[in-house]
Amino acid sequence: MIDLRSDTVVKPTPAMRAAMAAAEVGDDVFGEDPTVIALEERVAALFGHEAGLYCSSGTQTNQIAIKVHTQPGDELIGEDGMHIYRYEGGGIMATSGCSVKFVQNDRGRFTAEAVADAINNAADNYVARTRMVNIENTHNRGGGAVWELKEVHRIRTLCDQHGLALHLDGARIFNAMVVDGQEPKAWGKPFHSISVCLSKGLGAPVGSVLLGPKPFIHEARRVRKRIGGGMRQVGIIAAAGTYALDHHLGRLHEDHARASTLAKAIAELPYVEQVAPADTNIVVFRLKDPQGTNTLLTHLRAANIIALPFGIGTIRMVTHMEIDDASIQRTIETMNRYRP
Ligand SMILES: *Cc1c(COP(=O)(O)O)cnc(C)c1O
Repeated sequence: MIDLRSDTVVKPTPAMRAAMAAAEVGDDVFGEDPTVIALEERVAALFGHEAGLYCSSGTQTNQIAIKVHTQPGDELIGEDGMHIYRYEGGGIMATSGCSVKFVQNDRGRFTAEAVADAINNAADNYVARTRMVNIENTHNRGGGAVWELKEVHRIRTLCDQHGLALHLDGARIFNAMVVDGQEPKAWGKPFHSISVCLSKGLGAPVGSVLLGPKPFIHEARRVRKRIGGGMRQVGIIAAAGTYALDHHLGRLHEDHARASTLAKAIAELPYVEQVAPADTNIVVFRLKDPQGTNTLLTHLRAANIIALPFGIGTIRMVTHMEIDDASIQRTIETMNRYRP
């Protein structure tokens, strides 16, 4: 089976399982799990933030951040493809009671000017209070598009002028840094809070870390407990995250190279309208026939290849640790054989 639906499908390797089995643990709700504490401190230090909070998912880290940054009735600025809006169960509205304002964007990336235009006048009581800006890097719906740090700093300057929090949904921030060559501390600097996933390209079975200043993380810990996210001997799974940071960071570029090979081949197919530039490990392409998604996915399935439908006539394929060169070749051959 060649599973290209997501980089979340990766199973823990035997060595990762061994690290999990050997993890030193304690009751993390009592603040006594040494493996969790070490992981939180490690990721925080890596990005130059004061503190970290280990959570069950990227949805949880993002939604906790929104909850802590906002009050009900506030408004958040982002774009209409952002994960926190589309794929997190309506949490912005349900958990935080906030509205959203979308800005024009290029594959999920937007400018400081677009943000400036979307900030409500704080003196006008007709409108919601704008409270935060969300940036997603790499951008999932944008086909793994990578932000420019320079633009982020321009947005941060604007946030400072208007008292807005700037949050990074960095589910795949490590993939972004493979491309832009920046250090984690450089990406840590402009953001008030950051969500980092260990369960995507890094290959841990569970886990995301929320980063920010100590008072922010203190409050985030309360929100996590309130929604039932306090876990006990959780070093068992945190150890997988530590293992992933030790062993799987250095191989992300291989996923990018394979995605690039795949995207180039897909671009040549007569039935494909357009392929988004595959900057990282995500390939998003659109078929000439907007109704053609299911028949192509069925053709792939018959060859034991799974991809993800991603909107009208659009399909997503993601490379990861379990996709090797042979998997890519077999996928390309299978797609070459397809006649719509
Ligand atoms: C996967 C992902 C998340 C978090 O998803 P979980 O499945 O809740 O861990 C957040 N943002 C983006 C961009 C993602 O791709």
